Amino acid sequence: MNKLSQFEITDKNLVIRVDMNVPIIDGVIQDETRIFASLPSINYALSKGAKVLLLSHLGRPTEGVFDESFSLNPVAERLSNILNQSVDLISEIDDPLLFNSSSNIQILENIRFFTGEKSNSEELGKSLSNLGDVYVFDAFGTSHREQASTHSAITYSSQACAGILLEQEIESLTKALNESEKPYTAIIGGAKVSTKLELIKNLNNKADHVIVGGGIANTFIKASGYEVGKSLYEESMLDIAKDILKSGKIILPETVVTSLNFDGEQIQQKDISDVAPDEMILDQVVTSQMKEVISSSKTILWNGPLGVFENKEFSQGTKELSKEISKSKGFSIAGGGETLAAINKFINKDDVSYCSTGGGAFLEFMEGKDLPSIVALKLKSN
Ligand code: AMP
Repeated sequence: MNKLSQFEITDKNLVIRVDMNVPIIDGVIQDETRIFASLPSINYALSKGAKVLLLSHLGRPTEGVFDESFSLNPVAERLSNILNQSVDLISEIDDPLLFNSSSNIQILENIRFFTGEKSNSEELGKSLSNLGDVYVFDAFGTSHREQASTHSAITYSSQACAGILLEQEIESLTKALNESEKPYTAIIGGAKVSTKLELIKNLNNKADHVIVGGGIANTFIKASGYEVGKSLYEESMLDIAKDILKSGKIILPETVVTSLNFDGEQIQQKDISDVAPDEMILDQVVTSQMKEVISSSKTILWNGPLGVFENKEFSQGTKELSKEISKSKGFSIAGGGETLAAINKFINKDDVSYCSTGGGAFLEFMEGKDLPSIVALKLKSN
């Protein structure tokens, strides 16, 4: 796959597809992680004397319609602030100002306002590919989507390459997927087995231990023959869970936190064999076995909380787990929106070896799937 550093970019026009899909409420950006994650490629390009046009999507607007609430204007303003230079917000692909203003950095309005983005239209892909001299793809978070700016623009560009973030993501995720040092522990939490089934199966093959949490743990607890009361679990996944349990790698909770409802009525800590029919399991206690396994692991992969960590009453398991991971000397990798939110809440992000910017893309990569943008980039290799 071509890398940005391989290209002579001085005085060239670079189109960089970034993922600046940040949460915005009333025009205020709530989490800037994705903006900062895109800076290495942007700063590199600017330092080499290239002109930059950024492309990104934001939220899920109706295609073909401008909608102020999905405008990238707050992102352009924040970026201008961070880079300490003006950032033009360009509304149309045929705007004469495009690569033709005093500003070295511009951002095109939300790519999802343009007809053909979602359907991976050849026409839009071709237009985007021709806007600059090199098409740089750096939006790991959307690399699992086959859309005009993430796929056909790469295919039709005369020169395309991976940006610095994408390179880093691929390197770190590959380390956990194919080059992992053993012992390897995977921690899979969150709501449903069904949404992470391929990941669980893949990691059940690759890892030495799989710690389960959240609604996912509940399904495994039920499959092991225990009562889970009114807890979130998936009946349709029980047979699959029983099969997965045969590997002997799944580590179930021993002590759980129950309540009569999500509001925390009648909270109790109890053995998994004691859950009553009217109770819900909403958190778990990190066992000494889990702590030992994590501290002796050379590779740790984490996706999904151990409980309903948004509520303080049910956040203890996820908090303790993140602290164990932060103490570990092994290579640790985490991905997924909820997981990163938990990391930001409970520990220092720098104590995890690598935090992926991908949610769906992270899951699909770790399932062993080929991601469309990465495949398209590989086909463009010189
Ligand atoms: P996911 O997107 O699959 O990683 O799921 C994350 C969500 O699962 C979080 O919003 C948690 O509140 C939720 N969750 C975690 N544990 C439980 C549980 N025991 N019961 C219900 N929801 C849970």
